[in-house]
Amino acid sequence: MFSLRHFLSSFLLLALLTTACSEEEATPKSPVTPALEGHLTMGNPSGAVADVASPTNYLLSKPQYVLSYHRDKGIPNWVSWHLASSWLGSAARQDDFRADNTLPTGWYQVTAASYTSSGFDRGHNCPSADRTATEADNSATFLMINMLPQAPRNNQQTWASLEEYCRTLVGQGNELYIVMGQYGTGGIGSSGAKITLDNGRVTVPQRIWKVIVVLPEGANDASRVSANTRIIAVDTPNENNLNTAWGSYRTTVDSIEGATGYDLLSAVPASVQSVIEGRADVGPTQ
Ligand code: MN
Ligand code: MN
Repeated sequence: MFSLRHFLSSFLLLALLTTACSEEEATPKSPVTPALEGHLTMGNPSGAVADVASPTNYLLSKPQYVLSYHRDKGIPNWVSWHLASSWLGSAARQDDFRADNTLPTGWYQVTAASYTSSGFDRGHNCPSADRTATEADNSATFLMINMLPQAPRNNQQTWASLEEYCRTLVGQGNELYIVMGQYGTGGIGSSGAKITLDNGRVTVPQRIWKVIVVLPEGANDASRVSANTRIIAVDTPNENNLNTAWGSYRTTVDSIEGATGYDLLSAVPASVQSVIEGRADVGPTQ
């Protein structure tokens, strides 16, 4: 079932961003923190803005997820999405990998074939299986703006089991706020090391990370994150010989912030951030 609330949130977010851009042209890089519950409820990690003057940190909002796109790398810096039971249903995997033709005029559109024979998977950020309420929701995850060149073993094993565990947490009565991103340059796929794909138009990241906020289902989500809230931060090498146990790559949010320069969970009070961002998760992994 399509969620009207999600649709309206995204629409209103877009409207707010449009208003902000037109009124604050002098400061196009100022962070946008929407007041609405949505994919950016926990914050906008890099202060991304929907402005063509910001091509390496360009805010792209879909009803199903929100991301910061890097035009010159051909991949997102990060993708953020809300995962709750309302997003999960029985829609089939659409498998319709394709370019996003909504990118600004003149920007290269990474295609379904850009990763072909590279030794790297078209790795979803927001997973297909997190968006099964409708076929349209599932299809949106196959836009190439939602992909990273991901070492096959990372994608199909380490990452897949972490994604599966996220949905297990939802099945246990939780809702999650998830941010996935990358940093660094160069990975090792099934055909060896590569820096870029598609004649240099797609950068292979060196590290792939995720930060997950786990809350019991409820309302006013940013304000009820507390020092006791479970936060799972993971930072993996984009290399095909990595460990398949995602739990072995747990780290702190502080560590990922240090590596990326982002401020994660910025909508959470600073006093709470200072506690939860310095603590690595030790909870169950399945
Ligand atoms: Mn995947
Ligand atoms: Mn932070």
